[in-house]
Amino acid sequence: MGTSRRWVTEAIARVERDVAATPLREVGLPREWGIRLHLKDESAQPSGSVKHRLLSAAYADALATGRITEGTTVVMATAGPAAVAGAYFARSIGVEFVAVVPGSTKAEKAAAIEAMDGRCRPHHPPAAIYQEARRLAADSGGFYLDHFAAAAHVMDWRARDAFPERRGTGTDDRGSGNIGAEVVAQLGRAPEWIVAGAGTGATSGAIGRFLRYRGYETRLAVADPENSAYFPGWASGAPDYGTGMPSRIEGIGRPRMEPGFLASAIDLVVPVPDAAAVGALAHLRSFAGIRAGGSTGTCLWAAWRLIDRMLAEGRQGDVVAVMGDAGAAPDLDGTAYAEAVARFLATGRLDVP
Ligand SMILES: *Cc1c(COP(=O)(O)O)cnc(C)c1O
Repeated sequence: MGTSRRWVTEAIARVERDVAATPLREVGLPREWGIRLHLKDESAQPSGSVKHRLLSAAYADALATGRITEGTTVVMATAGPAAVAGAYFARSIGVEFVAVVPGSTKAEKAAAIEAMDGRCRPHHPPAAIYQEARRLAADSGGFYLDHFAAAAHVMDWRARDAFPERRGTGTDDRGSGNIGAEVVAQLGRAPEWIVAGAGTGATSGAIGRFLRYRGYETRLAVADPENSAYFPGWASGAPDYGTGMPSRIEGIGRPRMEPGFLASAIDLVVPVPDAAAVGALAHLRSFAGIRAGGSTGTCLWAAWRLIDRMLAEGRQGDVVAVMGDAGAAPDLDGTAYAEAVARFLATGRLDVP
């Protein structure tokens, strides 16, 4: 059965339209510093995380290449935010969605996928979910959406600078697709730093390429949690670096360098202790009333370290940290780090516990 071109173009329009231009939320710093810190709040995406942009692009790519047609079941291998976004777009274009998830997956994570009309298929052992998803897709004539592979090539990095062409049309609440372009448009100028976490590498890759393509001086930092291969891999220049250890921070940090991680487009990788992420989130909750997930805490801690450096160098400007989702953080004691942030705001010196 041939899918009509019309169905395909309408499906592509749908997956591209359903991406929000997410808000910037300021996290207070002393006014006299002349530095402003903002969160780019990706929890405001319709599926609740930064994976929304990657999955929008991956669906558009799979539709344009004929890999998803009318009636194709889309299969993914993860219980995380990528599967929630994958289920969201499957529902939006009217195709079935199955997530092969680790057998140990918590009920609330499965519920988030099921809330988007996706089905979960628990599988043992967790390391075999990728193979199982591929097999399931092959056996059922479905499409295995490998989001780690997609991250390397589907992102829209040669973005429209902002969305000026949409201004005054009543649709300028829609994003340009590229998160970096949106940040520059929303600030009205290029920030000093953008700080992102890296899971698939899609977000940092899209930002890094966009900044160089447009010639902005903005530098891109990746905040990396414990056990991740990205910091040692980036620092040593080894493209096949592996730790073999899982990250405790949802969405970021990988046991190996993934194909979407664009080391050469990243100016700095900042290793961040997991307890510092927890302390950063505690500060964010009590001082700004914002609840965010672990990856946001990791990015925030790295942002404060960069701001500490800007102060020492007498630099001013904007720093933007990506807020990946509003999810949970690991159960660790972050008190010493939260106290360090409070002292930082009072003294302008960030001492690392
Ligand atoms: C995936 C994810 C990230 C990192 O984004 P990538 O584009 O995959 O590198 C950050 N935060 C959360 C919550 C995520 O799920």
